[in-house]
Amino acid sequence: MSANEIRNIYCIGRNYRLHALELGNEVPDEPLVFTKPSHAVVAMNGNVVELPANVGEVHFELEIVLRIGKAYEPGMDTEQCIDAMALGLDLTLRDVQSKLKAKGQPWLAAKGFKSSAPLGEWQHYPGAAALAETEFTLMRNGVVAQRGKASDMLFNVSELIRFVGENYGLGAGDILYTGTPAGVAALQDGDQLQALWAGKPAGSCSVRFV
Ligand code: ZN
Repeated sequence: MSANEIRNIYCIGRNYRLHALELGNEVPDEPLVFTKPSHAVVAMNGNVVELPANVGEVHFELEIVLRIGKAYEPGMDTEQCIDAMALGLDLTLRDVQSKLKAKGQPWLAAKGFKSSAPLGEWQHYPGAAALAETEFTLMRNGVVAQRGKASDMLFNVSELIRFVGENYGLGAGDILYTGTPAGVAALQDGDQLQALWAGKPAGSCSVRFV
């Protein structure tokens, strides 16, 4: 395994109250965890991300993504597990997901398709306290689409690491999408997306439906 190879991709659903409510979902009483295949990852470095056409709405969800550098063990300081952070998109086939939810079926088809996890460049993890108060923003075609802060998470970074680590395991190379704030919406062909961390560029791409 190379130093930056991504292993498991864990994602947290409904971790911001206003986002849970905007989709008509209940606010969860424990973290809602799902996964994506590692093949879902694609860069966000000014590239074009190709998305599936004719399968209904593809929603953007900008999220703080944490990289695990040291395996979780019960009782440890969860801060020691994290070695980098990035902003990433948890792209979602919303119409497909609504059908899966109605049938009680797994979310893979809606959340795990190829290129469903565009990821900005890894950067220094500033620690939970600084992370909590730093604003992150998604610009779509130059207009603010989403704006959030980790302090608005229902389950904070430490609780997420502990929950995922204890139930599923967390090791070096795993990454964790921590949920999206309100403002999700359907992408349009040609949209230009830019992620900002504390107002600074943290990844960009455009999308094309093929
Ligand atoms: Zn998400």
